[in-house]
Amino acid sequence: MKDLSYKNKKLVFSKTDISSVAKKFKTPFFLYSEEVLTKNYETFSDGAKAAGLIDPLVCFAMKSNPNRELVKILAKLGSGADIVSVGELKRALGAGIPAKKIVFSGVGKTAEEIKFALKKEIYSFNVESIEELELINHLAKKSKKKARICFRLNPVVKPKTHKFISTGNKTHKFGILEKDVLDSLKNKSLWTHSRLVGLSVHIGSQLLDLRATGQAIKRLSEIALKTNIPLEFLDVGGGLGVDYHPDESKSLPQISEYMNLVHKHLQQHFYSKTDLRPRVVFEPGRRIVAKAGIFVMSVLRNKVSENNHFLIVDGGMNDFMRPAIYGAYHGLMPVKEAKNEVRCHVVGPICETTDCFASDRPLPKLKAGDHLVLADTGAYGYSMGSNYNLRGRPLELLAKKNKELKVVNKPQKYEELL
Ligand SMILES: *Cc1c(COP(=O)(O)O)cnc(C)c1O
Repeated sequence: MKDLSYKNKKLVFSKTDISSVAKKFKTPFFLYSEEVLTKNYETFSDGAKAAGLIDPLVCFAMKSNPNRELVKILAKLGSGADIVSVGELKRALGAGIPAKKIVFSGVGKTAEEIKFALKKEIYSFNVESIEELELINHLAKKSKKKARICFRLNPVVKPKTHKFISTGNKTHKFGILEKDVLDSLKNKSLWTHSRLVGLSVHIGSQLLDLRATGQAIKRLSEIALKTNIPLEFLDVGGGLGVDYHPDESKSLPQISEYMNLVHKHLQQHFYSKTDLRPRVVFEPGRRIVAKAGIFVMSVLRNKVSENNHFLIVDGGMNDFMRPAIYGAYHGLMPVKEAKNEVRCHVVGPICETTDCFASDRPLPKLKAGDHLVLADTGAYGYSMGSNYNLRGRPLELLAKKNKELKVVNKPQKYEELL
């Protein structure tokens, strides 16, 4: 059963009737579901255990959606966090995620961010360059700490995903090559106040074909063995995709399938060759939160230019960027079910041609004031938004398990920007 579907011609998101919410709150807004978020986290976490993975730690990728209330829900479920800035670190800690479950990724950590993370004693710095390691070691020395280091490996694999969200190849800024990882271990001066405790890979996002994931885990295992260091964990990254488009539903890897693949490759390439039993760390973002959110908009007006029918809505690319920057597909569903009669370009008010949520999309005839939902917008939605065109940021709402609606982020008035 899908979490977003029609019942008696009304669009319902995990038991919440959207038209009633849209009557109460001014559009555009994001609506999240505690139920779906919880289900997604538990399916992932339970799946890792069911596949027999050792002491799995799920570190939610905060950048996909750092909303405080959502992170609090995940913290209560036992989630850790994958962070990429001191802002995300503070948000994770504030929401109740303990430092010992936090890994710090990113190629551009500043000295200030590193100092704060050292003070909090996070689980691991996922280091992306040798120069970064030098700085961490230096700062750890100054603060009389021992930094826990994990190298993010560049496994040199090419996943089948959009080129802008692929990260595991030589031309990408992410990760360190095998040779540089192994060479650094010989340089004792890098390790006076740091200790290698893990190795990680993250090859890209919205992965639906798991072959590259398997290859990356093989490379991770081989290089972990070559370090000759008793690592505490192997971090297999995030990136598992969701079915944004109906065509993707057939090929969508199930969590059990993904976990079994991780287990199989670790078994074959690591555990079978050593007595070491490092735990497995995951960094999922999209798979946990994409389907836990929708974006609700109102139609402003129709505009017909010969064969082109533009449906102009009040949400824009500043609120939700994925279609504009990746050409990403997202489902569009009117809040009242009706049969499709027109092919529309669904566009926002922003002065950019790319401010377009869909081209030539079959839709019912809609008029000013009708509500329309952009589906699967819980990940990389609000967190990527901007104030472009001096627009205030939209409202965020949470439908709690007890059906209560909670404002989890007030809309920003444009006046606040003036
Ligand atoms: C973005 C990111 C993730 C999460 O990716 P998803 O596709 O949302 O699962 C995990 N790890 C790192 C290092 C990232 O940069």
